Amino acid sequence: MKRIGAHVSASGGVENAPLNAREIGATAFALFTKNQRQWNAKPLTEKSISAFRENLEKSDIAPRYVLPHDSYLINLGHPEDEALQKSRDAFLDEMQRCQQLGLSLLNFHPGSHLKRISEEDSLRRVADSINWALEQTSGVTAVIENTAGQGSNLGYRFEHLAAIIDGVEDKSRVGVCIDTCHTFTAGYDLRTAEACSQTFDEFERIVGFNYLRGVHLNDSKPDLGSRVDRHESLGKGKLGWTVFEFIMNDNRFEEIPMVLETVDSSIWADEIRQLYALQKAA
Ligand SMILES: [Zn+2]
Ligand SMILES: [Zn+2]
Repeated sequence: MKRIGAHVSASGGVENAPLNAREIGATAFALFTKNQRQWNAKPLTEKSISAFRENLEKSDIAPRYVLPHDSYLINLGHPEDEALQKSRDAFLDEMQRCQQLGLSLLNFHPGSHLKRISEEDSLRRVADSINWALEQTSGVTAVIENTAGQGSNLGYRFEHLAAIIDGVEDKSRVGVCIDTCHTFTAGYDLRTAEACSQTFDEFERIVGFNYLRGVHLNDSKPDLGSRVDRHESLGKGKLGWTVFEFIMNDNRFEEIPMVLETVDSSIWADEIRQLYALQKAA
């Protein structure tokens, strides 16, 4: 079945996230396991960890449908060694948090070359960073998200995702997450069924659906190819409903956490209902 949810709040503690997911009728969810705008965070307490596991059970959402997102500060492709190490340490901490919570995925943005090294060199650094973190953890898959390509951010071409995967030694623990808004503003059309078909076929050719571990369901405020990252509620942006109907009826998206990062959290429950209503009877 399709697993749909939203990036829910973990304020007051990670253990609140599964409850917030359940409240909106989600069958998957995303969360931050620490403040996403700060480098340092206190370790998760035993109490918080066990409450999270308990609440997750209550919510009837299996751990594999939970897609934690890392901090926005982390840049695994950083051109400078010292700053790169700071990012790697923070990324490792995020992976360990997932492991402690019994979760198997960690979603992150590849990184940025900051116009100081080539895209190629920066992508190589990202892959090396992933290798470094995977060696020190177990059971957690690094899930690379495609980006809008704002500024010097990497990951706006499917080829970037493929290049990173190519440099990762343990292919069983690397995957990708497709963000519909980012895909569109990066220049891949998704406005018609035909365009969706073409874009996802290109994804299959360059990356492969066997690496798909998550989807972010967002409409887009900016236009095709604008390279700007601004999400919109479903159906209210430049994408419209077609791509979401397409995804809801495409088998390649089965049993993968698909989460809303749309701007109005007060309508997430409705958006989830609307998504399920788009499914045609088999
Ligand atoms: Zn993201
Ligand atoms: Zn996203």
